[in-house]
Amino acid sequence: VSFSLTILGSSSALPTSKRFTSAHLLNVDERLYLIDCGEGVQMQLRRFKIRFGKINHIFISHVHGDHILGLFGLLSSFNLLGRKEPLHIFSHHDLQKIISPNLQWLLGECQFPIVYHPVKPSGSELIFEDDKLTVHSIPLKHRIPTVGFLFREKSRMRNIKKEAIEKYELNFGEIVKIKDGADLRTKEGLVVSNNELTDPSFRQRSYAYCSDTAYYESIIPIISGVDLLYHEATFLHKELKRAKDNFHSTALQAATIAEKAKVKKLLIGHYSARYKDVTPLLDEAKNIFPDTEAVEDGDIYNVELSK
Ligand SMILES: [Zn+2]
Repeated sequence: VSFSLTILGSSSALPTSKRFTSAHLLNVDERLYLIDCGEGVQMQLRRFKIRFGKINHIFISHVHGDHILGLFGLLSSFNLLGRKEPLHIFSHHDLQKIISPNLQWLLGECQFPIVYHPVKPSGSELIFEDDKLTVHSIPLKHRIPTVGFLFREKSRMRNIKKEAIEKYELNFGEIVKIKDGADLRTKEGLVVSNNELTDPSFRQRSYAYCSDTAYYESIIPIISGVDLLYHEATFLHKELKRAKDNFHSTALQAATIAEKAKVKKLLIGHYSARYKDVTPLLDEAKNIFPDTEAVEDGDIYNVELSK
């Protein structure tokens, strides 16, 4: 079962010849969740061979251009390709005010329903769930209302042992109950405990997207222990004043959050266009939190199943 993240854009405000603006794609068991939608998202989706017709859920952190300018192009292509499935967009309610009035101008008649789900910028709450995962909002600290998103796999059923199926000649109904935690009562009236029949399930994998934000320790309890944390690192720490003035973070600050939240791996990105080479940002972060990677467009990060 896949749990993998593709970086579609790693630049901040300005795209560069190598980097598009913010967008990530999370694939959980072949269900695709798009996170932010910077300019040119549909080009990146094509370039990285992602079947973007399968995207039904889009999560937008805030309504700054570098996070939403790809939406109109994407919506337009969905329409031209004959999409009929509803598209769910999770964001601050201002996004609907930007999209709705302009849709007719840019798309003509929109052939598919767009369902807006307003997300409150204060307090972390459950904003979405399906049978694969839950998504919680993460209030961030930026110039305008902004939230990050915490994606977490749903708890998995226990894994049944192959030997147990053969030994007790279990039928389908019994297997489902046992995976759910039940003990087995045999025809002879013996009770076999669930522990004997199953192995513990895998850990629930998780991914937290935190961009854009100033250094903000309030997010630490929400993202504590996640497998993957993406935290913006727009500047080097010697540009701290600039970072503060613009409600962005430095690489050192991103790493400090990762360290305090005891995450497994930190990904940094949302680089200022001034950094052609991001090695200094990576070095600065690694100094505080060694398991850091500096993302580039097209990078894929898989989180493997583990106990
Ligand atoms: Zn941004």
